Amino acid sequence: MNAAAAAYIVAALLFVLSLAGLSKHETAKSGNAFGIAGMAIALAATIGLAAQSIEAAAVGLIVVAMAAGAAIGLWRARRVEMTGMPELIALLHSFVGLAAVLVGWNGYLSVEAQAGTQTEVPADLLGIHSAEVVIGVFIGAVTLTGSIVAFLKLSARIPSNPLMLPGRNWLNLGALVAFVALTVAFVVSPGLGLLVAVTVLALALGWHLVASIGGGDMPVVVSMLNSYSGWAAAASGFLLDNDLLIITGALVGSSGAYLSWIMCRAMNRSFLSVIAGGFGNEGSTATGTEDGVHTEITAEEVAELLRDAKSVVITPGYGMAVAHAQGPVAELTRKLAESGAEVRFGIHPVAGRLPGHMNVLLAEAKVPYDIVLEMDEINDDLAATSVVLVIGANDTVNPAALEDPGSPIAGMPVLQVWEAGHVVVFKRSMSTGYAGVQNPLFFRENTRMLFGDARERVEDILKAL
Ligand code: NDP
Repeated sequence: MNAAAAAYIVAALLFVLSLAGLSKHETAKSGNAFGIAGMAIALAATIGLAAQSIEAAAVGLIVVAMAAGAAIGLWRARRVEMTGMPELIALLHSFVGLAAVLVGWNGYLSVEAQAGTQTEVPADLLGIHSAEVVIGVFIGAVTLTGSIVAFLKLSARIPSNPLMLPGRNWLNLGALVAFVALTVAFVVSPGLGLLVAVTVLALALGWHLVASIGGGDMPVVVSMLNSYSGWAAAASGFLLDNDLLIITGALVGSSGAYLSWIMCRAMNRSFLSVIAGGFGNEGSTATGTEDGVHTEITAEEVAELLRDAKSVVITPGYGMAVAHAQGPVAELTRKLAESGAEVRFGIHPVAGRLPGHMNVLLAEAKVPYDIVLEMDEINDDLAATSVVLVIGANDTVNPAALEDPGSPIAGMPVLQVWEAGHVVVFKRSMSTGYAGVQNPLFFRENTRMLFGDARERVEDILKAL
């Protein structure tokens, strides 16, 4: 028992070091290594501890289950495309939610359902145990269905626009009030019917909360569900009497909540309104129907523009990731810099489909960090920039966010690329971005559309240069 407790403390410290490491590019690799070491120690200590109190055959089953899980996890992680990461993460969060629901139900079946017989929970602590069961099941079930809806939206299996049920805020509030009432009733008299009611209520609430959030706010949802999954794990830690699970759950829960808050600030969204399921979105369902005339340009003409440009800013987005264009884009950057142009990147905080998605791709293509600037650092310089290349970005460069108060993305800060001398937009068609909103940038006088796969078009420009 003491060896296990010591191992848990070491693992908890490694998790804290891991989070600290992951907060900077330079130390991210060592952060990952700390996390892996911490998890290996935690698993070994947990199995060792279990082996003291259960039969060898049961330990064997745990090891077989872990080996199967590890094999599936490795297979999926090796195959997943960078652009498919958010949906994989959402799916993994749903497993944490499911585990918390199962742990809660197991707690009920092995303690409250055995009323009258001797259980490991003393009678005077039974109320606390019952509260842990309901709260664990509730958070777990909200996380489970919320993450499944997020997975379906992110993988485009269901539309990403918000579900607008009449009186939806009242539905959410009513569900919370019902949860409090059911918790009190369950603590007073723990019955199967009450636990079933809490489970069904929480499953419905999780589904509704995430279904009500629109496409543009999905980045916050992913980090919010990350936070929920942490709290679900912490709740399971209380039920299983496992200190490390409580610590780890609290670390994930609070860091996820902090990340959600940072992302809300970056997108000018109210944290409370997003976690309350899009509260305050009323009236912003228009998808922007502005249509106009767009002007096309060829790769050779873009090369011509770039040859004369003194300063170039590249604003990449999700399409650069889809096209795997980061290599040729880095090559273009080097070529332009050699010919004397000042070349920089402008990165929107939610460009792509993951926090830091573009930074990772550009680092992979060996673009120096010092020319990769954040939106706030570059926005003021865009008016004095000769050419902006918008490579596979759409929502993050949409002027409607600033100019159309009825737009679903109204108020979200964007890269103000239209202020530059010339704007070239690389995309395959006139279709909308993730938020499903039309982009008036495409019809501006100084905008030219370069249609086709971003990688092929950048390679064409390189040839022409
Ligand atoms: P968008 O999703 O708005 O637009 C991407 C554009 O890339 C599309 O218009 C598409 O147009 C184009 N594209 C796709 N494939 C290619 C290709 N092979 N070659 C060239 N173009 C291509 O991207 P942004 O990065 O601007 O915005 C990110 C959006 O995703 C935001 O709405 C954000 O809220 C959301 N989001 C972000 C997350 C995050 O954490 N960063 C997580 C979840 C959602 P076409 O089809 O015509 O080629």
